[in-house]
Amino acid sequence: MNEPKYPFPALMEEASLVDTHCHLDMEEYAADLDDVLDRAHQQKVDRIITIGIDFESSKKAVSLARKYRGVSASVGVHPHNLPAATEDVYANILGLARENRDVVVGYGEIGLDYVRKYHPPELQRRHFRLQLDMARAAALPVIIHDREAHDDILRILDDSGPLPAGGVMHCFSGDYRFASTLIDRGLHISIPGVITFKNAASLQEVVRKVPLASLLLETDGPFLAPHPWRGKRNEPSYVLYTAARVAELRGISLPSLARATSENAAALFSLNTPCPESASLS
Ligand SMILES: [Zn+2]
Repeated sequence: MNEPKYPFPALMEEASLVDTHCHLDMEEYAADLDDVLDRAHQQKVDRIITIGIDFESSKKAVSLARKYRGVSASVGVHPHNLPAATEDVYANILGLARENRDVVVGYGEIGLDYVRKYHPPELQRRHFRLQLDMARAAALPVIIHDREAHDDILRILDDSGPLPAGGVMHCFSGDYRFASTLIDRGLHISIPGVITFKNAASLQEVVRKVPLASLLLETDGPFLAPHPWRGKRNEPSYVLYTAARVAELRGISLPSLARATSENAAALFSLNTPCPESASLS
């Protein structure tokens, strides 16, 4: 029964992958996280960034990064979770980032969500501006969530000023023009499993045309599983399907794509330091 229902694309040669965006602290992984991470390592997904969506989840991200080899953390408050984000909460998040510099590699996810619109756009914009300042204060790259808020995201990025540590538009959902505008501002574009879906023409154009140096890969697990797992729980090993499709669209080999995107991720999130061994072993 250990045989996977669908074979993984083979990642040969000296290449590995980074899942730059996954929510390992979520309920969906509670029962089998060790197996999920074993599968990731078996498939050479050597690095995973687990993303904070509020203070509690940011703390869990830090603990997971301390516990598991190859896992790093980000901290921040997702646009769905804003009302609980008081001044004290933000002070605690900044403290968490500063006390855990060795495992906290990004600030986010932060941004605007005009699809779910759990909170009024004006409130979302205020928190987004504030958290861009916090990312700067922490000298961390930002991880931005944008759902149908492209214009406001751009306007706020421009008002807010440069981001010296850079950043990424996670789960990119815009067109090539929007991607280019972000890349001009020094941001990376992160490609989710959506690229494996049949109706992804606009995202395919982005993947074909943006500079390879701007591309990152992510699962956004447990959400948005790529084909052939669409509709099921997503997990870091599945970033391999996304990588295979991106390589195919760009007409390069899977190992070359893996190497390039892993280098991009390592540079943006400063992942070059050797993987800490599992803390439980020390
Ligand atoms: Zn996310």
